[in-house]
Amino acid sequence: MDLSYILNQLGEDRAQYFGAVAPPIVQSSIFAFPTVDAMRVGFRDEFGEHVYTRGNNPTVEILRKKVAALEGAEDCLMFGSGAAAMSAGVIACLSGGDHVVCVARPYSWTRAVLQDLLGRFGVATTFVDGTDVANFEHALTERTRLIVLESPNSMTFEQQDLAAVAKLAKARGILTLCDNSYATPLNQSPLALGIDLVAHSATKYLNGHSDVVAGALCGSSELIRKVFRGPYMTLGAIVAPHDAWLMIRGLRTLPIRMQRIAATTGEVLAFLENHPRVRRVFSPRASGNAQFALTQQQLHGASGLLTIELDADVAGVERFCDALERFLMTVSWGGYESLAFPVCAVFPKDAPLRPANGGASLNFVRLSIGLEEPSVLIADLDQALARI
Ligand SMILES: *Cc1c(COP(=O)(O)O)cnc(C)c1O
Repeated sequence: MDLSYILNQLGEDRAQYFGAVAPPIVQSSIFAFPTVDAMRVGFRDEFGEHVYTRGNNPTVEILRKKVAALEGAEDCLMFGSGAAAMSAGVIACLSGGDHVVCVARPYSWTRAVLQDLLGRFGVATTFVDGTDVANFEHALTERTRLIVLESPNSMTFEQQDLAAVAKLAKARGILTLCDNSYATPLNQSPLALGIDLVAHSATKYLNGHSDVVAGALCGSSELIRKVFRGPYMTLGAIVAPHDAWLMIRGLRTLPIRMQRIAATTGEVLAFLENHPRVRRVFSPRASGNAQFALTQQQLHGASGLLTIELDADVAGVERFCDALERFLMTVSWGGYESLAFPVCAVFPKDAPLRPANGGASLNFVRLSIGLEEPSVLIADLDQALARI
């Protein structure tokens, strides 16, 4: 299936809605049946039929088909957030007494669901440095049921050798779940490397317009059905039909957005790596990245996230960030607009310069490169760096 078929045609049965090119937003919580027997058929398969929008909604279904095809997955479920997708994925795989191995610096709420929420229900998690496959092997116990990956992670971009971890897990009957938000389905295919479940914060590149919070979980029909019957239906963290419609629209330009973002990020990276006030640039493509060979092997294109360590104290970081005119200062990433996230904003003003949670120091600023002209972004960074 080619990319433009997936984005422009797949799941869209236009004859059903007057030939309308854009699909309808089926803004209905419930679907009525003409006969008791038809209703019985609906109840037998709430996953495939249309009964209730917490289970299945036609607009959301179009989106599910597209995201599944992009990931090369048999099926996909959409959620009300990336955090909900990750939580549903891990909850579906685990019972009390089970053990999980997770990368050391996952997205903060991934750590929270494993350590804090599931920890209260008797699930134990060991966090390991995922840059060396041997660390996963050493952490396994006979109770290990799941390995949770995030490659690369979204602050310092450590990667895991996905094929090697999948092989290790499969040989022992352990499931694997990988957060693929950074790479997008276009630049990395964990399922093809043997990973069982792939999660996305669709809030980021998949939607790409900073106007929807959503998540996706992709995998085999069997696993996705298990998630549906379990946390999807019980926790009910669904994406609303209108948000799904916005995401279908956002997805149509994913390839062209990622192309532009990759090209601009390459230019910004080269500028930052040569700037005297920038001590270090973190990116899978940064010249000093010790995992560069793995980047070449596993990650087929660049994304727009990079983190810079400034040659500055917190006051200097504040002067830099306050001076930015084109980068909006906020959390999150993956939209059409460039963003700056100063790690020091999460801490009190008088905190000492030290490593924070997630391996980031207070002089780190994460940038998300958007669709602006590269020269505009570089000029903005240049004038702000001069203010340090
Ligand atoms: C943002 C993010 C999430 C959580 O997604 P939400 O849509 O904000 O719930 C999960 N993983 C990564 C890597 C993220 O950046």
